[in-house]
Amino acid sequence: MGDFFERIVDVEVSAEEAGPLAERTVDWMVAEGLITRELSGDGVYSLTVDEGYVPGPRWARAVADAPDPDERPGPVAVIVGRDHHVGGQGTDEAEYAVCPRCRTRTVIIDYPEEFEADDEVWQPFKDGIAAWKATGEGSAPCSACGAVVPVTEWQWEPNFAVGALAFDFWGWPPLSAGFRARFGRQLGHRTVEQTGKF
Ligand SMILES: [Zn+2]
Repeated sequence: MGDFFERIVDVEVSAEEAGPLAERTVDWMVAEGLITRELSGDGVYSLTVDEGYVPGPRWARAVADAPDPDERPGPVAVIVGRDHHVGGQGTDEAEYAVCPRCRTRTVIIDYPEEFEADDEVWQPFKDGIAAWKATGEGSAPCSACGAVVPVTEWQWEPNFAVGALAFDFWGWPPLSAGFRARFGRQLGHRTVEQTGKF
């Protein structure tokens, strides 16, 4: 299958809860027939995990349009642990972040004039994310209002998310809105969805 993915990131779960929640979510997907417990690396192009759960007999129940009967998507990879997740073109920096206190948008990559991050603007975010990955706590100051905002509270552009649990559906047709809503309820947390190509 293709080298594209749809990703659902839990942006609220703690690193301590992420492992048990991942297990419960896999159990639920297996019970629904969406995946099996068989692991495969075929069709997984992630840099963080090298295998995922093979689709189950009722995988098509998760997708929006009736799939081609000959089609079979790739595995569902589960990423446990504090990490930053990028979709789209996969640049390692966020294009922008919005301060939850004053609503000011800090532009990091000034498209379409620039295609690279302004290092000076990105550095405090990068440092905050690194600290959060290492310790579970990290923040970056808002240059507009001065608030020191945890990296988990900054409102990142859609292709950038920080979270301790993510699910990558490799090569699946578009997941249905109903399935994505059920998945979010199953996690019990706020989620961010991304798509991307490896
Ligand atoms: Zn602010």
